[in-house]
Amino acid sequence: MLDLNVRLISILGVLTVIVLAGLTLDYLGKFRQRIRLGLWVAILGIAAGSLFTLMAVLPEGKFYGPVFSEVKTSKKVVALTFDDGPYPPYTGEILDILKENNVPATFFVVGRNAEKYPELLRRMAEEGHQVGNHSYSHMDLLKADRNTIAQEVDRTSAIIRNITGNLPVLVRPPHGFRDPLVMEMMAQRNLCVVEWSVASRDWTNPGVQQIVEQTLAKTKNGAIILLHDGDGIEQKASRQQTVAAVRLIIKGLKEKGYTFVTVGEILKPEE
Ligand SMILES: [Zn+2]
Repeated sequence: MLDLNVRLISILGVLTVIVLAGLTLDYLGKFRQRIRLGLWVAILGIAAGSLFTLMAVLPEGKFYGPVFSEVKTSKKVVALTFDDGPYPPYTGEILDILKENNVPATFFVVGRNAEKYPELLRRMAEEGHQVGNHSYSHMDLLKADRNTIAQEVDRTSAIIRNITGNLPVLVRPPHGFRDPLVMEMMAQRNLCVVEWSVASRDWTNPGVQQIVEQTLAKTKNGAIILLHDGDGIEQKASRQQTVAAVRLIIKGLKEKGYTFVTVGEILKPEE
């Protein structure tokens, strides 16, 4: 792990200077004995920059600290997760389907949307679902300073606690993006950072069949499945495809013998 306060942007800034220095030295013909040292420094700098960025955006990247994208287990359990809501009428429709099928899920809610639709949050809690923190305004935390990150996270946790009575223990940073500072601030708040192992790009509305097929094909034991009942803070896009897909995903996974648990449950160590 890196120094706790490092930002991805600072790492990339330092690497850019190293790359430029390497290229300049190569251009000037310095250190060009048996190998072109300057050029190699520049190439390694670019590779390192790509790697540091990938670790911040790939759901399974653990370089900046512990994140959970799936769980290794021999049990046929999976966790459905829904991001960006609550967002009527879709969140309510998804809650209806989950209830009909007796399936618990985890909702990573946007604080601003939760404030608008507290009754949907209450319903999630009452019907046995877990509610996690997905920031207040769905901001890319890589671009936010320390104070803004604190506000985004703390305000949302307080809203969730006020409505449901429970302080969230899970967080999913918007887009899953994190760097050392983001990870450190989540750890200080005892928030477990949850990513995902199955994504169907349902947020692009690629068609119900596509969402269902992608999800069923990628799901394994211990999978954390990413879906969207909301649409950031804009709340413009339809989530009708996701609603229709959820019904078929539950049916398909049940037929394959899977049972559904919340993220909190799936993360518990096996007895
Ligand atoms: Zn989101």
